[in-house]
Amino acid sequence: MLVVLKLKASPVASAKVFFGAMVGSIGYKPIGHNPGKVMIKLKFLTPLYLMCLVLALSCKKDPSHGVAFEGGQVFNGQTFESKTFYVINGLISFNPPGTLDSTIQLDRHYVIPPFGDAHTHNLADPSKIDSLEKKYVQDGIYYVQVLTNYASKADSVRDRFSSPETIDVKYANGGLTSTLGHPHLAYETSALNLHWSAMFSQRDRIKQSRLAENDAYWFLDTTEDVAQKWDAILTIKPDLIKIYLINTERHEALVEAEQMGNFGLSEDVARLVVKKAHEAGLKVYAHVENAYDFRVGLNIGVDGFGHLPGYSWDGKADVDMYRLTDEDIAKAKDRNIVIIPTANFAQVYAVKYDNRGNPSLDSLRYETVNQFLTKELKRLNKAGVSIALGADQDGETSILEANYLVDKLEAFDRLTALKLLAETTPQTIYPDRKIGELKEGYEASFLVLSGNPLNNWDYIDSINLYVKQGKFLNIKQ
Ligand SMILES: [Zn+2]
Repeated sequence: MLVVLKLKASPVASAKVFFGAMVGSIGYKPIGHNPGKVMIKLKFLTPLYLMCLVLALSCKKDPSHGVAFEGGQVFNGQTFESKTFYVINGLISFNPPGTLDSTIQLDRHYVIPPFGDAHTHNLADPSKIDSLEKKYVQDGIYYVQVLTNYASKADSVRDRFSSPETIDVKYANGGLTSTLGHPHLAYETSALNLHWSAMFSQRDRIKQSRLAENDAYWFLDTTEDVAQKWDAILTIKPDLIKIYLINTERHEALVEAEQMGNFGLSEDVARLVVKKAHEAGLKVYAHVENAYDFRVGLNIGVDGFGHLPGYSWDGKADVDMYRLTDEDIAKAKDRNIVIIPTANFAQVYAVKYDNRGNPSLDSLRYETVNQFLTKELKRLNKAGVSIALGADQDGETSILEANYLVDKLEAFDRLTALKLLAETTPQTIYPDRKIGELKEGYEASFLVLSGNPLNNWDYIDSINLYVKQGKFLNIKQ
């Protein structure tokens, strides 16, 4: 058996404690800076050897020195190949360095690029940050995109991320909507410390509340509002912009009727936001509900969609409201637009509650919506549209969504799903970096799995080693 860092009964468990003690209260970080010429065979790993491994990886920034990883099965984008690779100055090479500081035997274990999460609201709340950061690392997710969060809270935690030794996180900050549009209701309900059911029972109180305004959301009703508030939106340094397009075809009527939460921006306002965001060098992701919203997004030039239309379908309303046309899909492909399906909502929304709050699954809705989403996802994939993964569920990661797509929907084969999770998603979050593939000159960031995920998908959860930009990441117990 190789290094199974998760196995408590193995000798490695004591190694983990040992490291935990060394790194103090920080969740994980690389240790040491004193490379020696050591040969490490992982299957005989002891705390001492693990220490050597860490030292070996954190070698000096000298391009003539490097560390060899021998005997692993390395993912090449299609399959796994037996080959040796080197970590030199934080980058991957398939050519040996002038001086080999050490060699790590991977004993036929499986090496893949780390994962991304393109739609979450995690990692912005200081009160949960330690456990969630740990979860992201444990899940092998190094690249995260937060699509709406309290800017003020993100401000207090963002310094701990986005360095070679940590996961990398982008924040959209406050979502852009119109007065009383989504996500005002959701944020104000929680800001008032109310249960979600208060959205119905205490509607007026929530309607008046503005505790999270200009922080977790902004109200932009007219193009004049955009002109007036834009500088303030940029002042809190969003890494990207999130807009809300919901039932856009009925926008004015819904605003008039004060249908709180059932609308977002008007098309005119959204168009100006996209223009100004692009001028500021920021990408724009749109929350959409139906195919009309999607078309508005295409017309105004958004860069990505936070949902696939139909993710929230009740399984009864006219399905044509949600189905994309071939032309929609061709446009999305031509313009290189990213779609984050959040298909797992089909299950979340199919759960009904009785008067006592006991849940049960509406299996007709569940099956109907799953079938629809599976078809749509296959069409998008066949057309070559970029699909990035994110679960958009509190406390969960994109692994939940990946498992849903593979196990429940069977929308993709395991190779496609692995590429979406490890290649497309990281590359869409950080398009300017050499990540998502194990190629010459790419960042030396990878996960070592105990088995082949193309044979058994469960192996994406059997991560033995975490390396980021040439450094070993340790996970605190
Ligand atoms: Zn979301």
